[in-house]
Amino acid sequence: MDKRLLLFDVDGTLIRSNGAGRAAMMAALTALFGDVTTADGYRMDGKTDPRIVKDLLLAVGVDKQRIESSLPLIYDRMEAEARHLFAQHDITPCPGVNALLSTLRARPDVLLGLVTGNIARTAPLKLQAAQIDPNQFRVGAYGSDHEDRNQLVLLAMRRASELTGQPFTGEQTVVIGDTPADILCARAGGAKAIAVASGWHGRNTLAQYHPDYLFDNLVQTEDILTALLSE
Ligand SMILES: [Mg+2]
Repeated sequence: MDKRLLLFDVDGTLIRSNGAGRAAMMAALTALFGDVTTADGYRMDGKTDPRIVKDLLLAVGVDKQRIESSLPLIYDRMEAEARHLFAQHDITPCPGVNALLSTLRARPDVLLGLVTGNIARTAPLKLQAAQIDPNQFRVGAYGSDHEDRNQLVLLAMRRASELTGQPFTGEQTVVIGDTPADILCARAGGAKAIAVASGWHGRNTLAQYHPDYLFDNLVQTEDILTALLSE
């Protein structure tokens, strides 16, 4: 049976980290580079971690080459900070997520995956902190794979094809996310876009990017399922 590939964003879509993601990023950068707070107020949602790291460090005068060569060290530190900080923050599933995932897990015709700006080593920690099993997402493409989110859907489709032997194109793929960047990356991969206004962006903003479907949240399991599986 051909499966449909469902690629979920993490922050604002599956979980709310209530500042934990930002805290881990800032703690890592401060430990390695000192004060980076000139960038306070910087919006992180929808951006990949490497993009955020570069924006924040460039703003305090760290040169591009040093940022590039420091990324492995920064990721190490982010993971360490995440292991420490995520337990102290209230990281919770977004409304409707648990019921939706449990319905989807029972279906043989879907393959669950992640497309997220988080690095590959912190995304599972965030999900675990919200009591969501990261292993149910069989494939993923992460910020640590590419700074440009628009590359990530194609990468996730390639990984899904390698895993299953079924060739995945945009036709069989759906991206579910809470920001305009999620809608745009779906389009970049030729995939369907489902927008959910459970993050920082309201319905009106998301509607301007013309997602295929737009929901307030993921609470109405049957409606979401219809959208996810629609032709
Ligand atoms: Mg998000």
